[in-house]
Amino acid sequence: MFNTLYRKLALISFLLVFTIGAVFFQIIRYSTEMYQQEVAQKLNIDLAANIVHEKNLIKNKVINKKGLKHVFHMLMVINPSIEMYLIDPQGKILDYFAPKGKVKRKSISLTPVHQYIEKNTSYPLLGDDPRDEAISKVFSAARIPAKGPLEGYMYIILGGEKLDSITDMLENSYILRSSLWGLGAGLLVAFIMALILFSMLTGRLGRLSKAMNEFSSNSDNAKHLRIQVDENKDDEINQLSKHFNNMADTIEKQFSAQKKNDQLRRELIANISHDLRTPITSLQGYLETLIYKELDESQKTRYLNTAYDQSHRLSQLVSDLFELAKLDSCETIVYAEPFSLGELIQDIIQKFEIKAKKKNIHLKTDFCFDVPNVYGDIAMVQRLLENLIENAIRYTNQDGVVDVGFIQQGNKIQIKIQDTGCGIPKENLGSIFDRFYRVDNSRSTSVSSGLGLAIVKRIIDLHGSTINVESIVNKGTSFIFDMPLCD
Ligand code: ADP
Repeated sequence: MFNTLYRKLALISFLLVFTIGAVFFQIIRYSTEMYQQEVAQKLNIDLAANIVHEKNLIKNKVINKKGLKHVFHMLMVINPSIEMYLIDPQGKILDYFAPKGKVKRKSISLTPVHQYIEKNTSYPLLGDDPRDEAISKVFSAARIPAKGPLEGYMYIILGGEKLDSITDMLENSYILRSSLWGLGAGLLVAFIMALILFSMLTGRLGRLSKAMNEFSSNSDNAKHLRIQVDENKDDEINQLSKHFNNMADTIEKQFSAQKKNDQLRRELIANISHDLRTPITSLQGYLETLIYKELDESQKTRYLNTAYDQSHRLSQLVSDLFELAKLDSCETIVYAEPFSLGELIQDIIQKFEIKAKKKNIHLKTDFCFDVPNVYGDIAMVQRLLENLIENAIRYTNQDGVVDVGFIQQGNKIQIKIQDTGCGIPKENLGSIFDRFYRVDNSRSTSVSSGLGLAIVKRIIDLHGSTINVESIVNKGTSFIFDMPLCD
């Protein structure tokens, strides 16, 4: 029955309102009673003294029965709820004016009576009720006679029997009645307002929960589902909504990244299969021809050379794939250390000199050996530079220039590999670092795998650096990146 938050909150607020009502009722009841008693006592403060003054009720321990009857009669007319007692100096009840058979006490305590007569007290002051041994009531008292030797006390219980039941009290007290109506109305309004407030709050929570449920069910129309956030509020529900929206954004991003990765993986496998099958098929073809056909020596040499080229391409492709897989694996560690970039460049340039000479390409560097050592994984940086310089030579025509330049910038060194080759069209610049991407298959050579720049990018990423390309078609291309210098 109370399984929803709204119902639980409604029950709690009902119990709260009920408890507050009960506590306040008791407080109002008590204070009204006290107030009534105080007022009654203060109004009748001199009642007993006036009666004593009027009639001499005891003289030489003899009760003036006639005078007493007259006073009783007079009081009955004035206020029938008043009870009057004649008390001796020890507190014993000598005579009284009250319904017969109801008086239970034979004597009363004189302590409150003395306090009353000496006016040394705060009101209401309660004294023994002769009609009930368990309770006390407000009273008026005076010594008899007012002056001279003490003969006894006039003791008047004000207000008669106690108004015990709530109905009695409500019937007799306008203040209590109106206070209770006010309290009841106030609590009812508070309860209704609490219900409205809870319904608003739980309504927002309900919407949040519904959105989360729809999102987790992953239905297509819940994909872009977001909860409206009120920017003016900063309560917990609003924060929860914001967190949900952020979480949904992240999940969606991860979801689409995963989708993209899946797509890439499929393309990668297709590319790998295709790239591996092409040289293998051609290799098989040439070898079959060599085995089954009668060929002269020059034909044999040509076929063998072509078969060798295909096997070289195959090995290059496998080694690139292996390299990329290694760099991709999360266990890849960058063994960064200081090393001389100048020496490394010189070695690489020497390695590519023959290739460059074949195309009459001028391969040059302006590296100055005063430059401090750089900090990085030497094997990775070597592979990176080899790929960039090899590409520069590959995509530069006869008589071109490939220049490896440097600019020192603070604690970094900027490295620029510039060529005067065919360049890359603007629209392709964004994709050249993708795996198996080739700008134009027609210009790719037999050893081109489309993995060289993907390896370069991965190495740059692992070093926490960035690489930029500037290119003008038929004018040339520059690859620019920087490395930290050692102090
Ligand atoms: P590939 O093995 O085909 O060279 P890369 O990943 O190294 O693969 O390069 C991707 C593509 O970028 C190449 O196919 C080529 O078209 C283009 N490219 C790379 N470097 C250069 C360059 N220096 N000049 C012109 N085009 C280049």
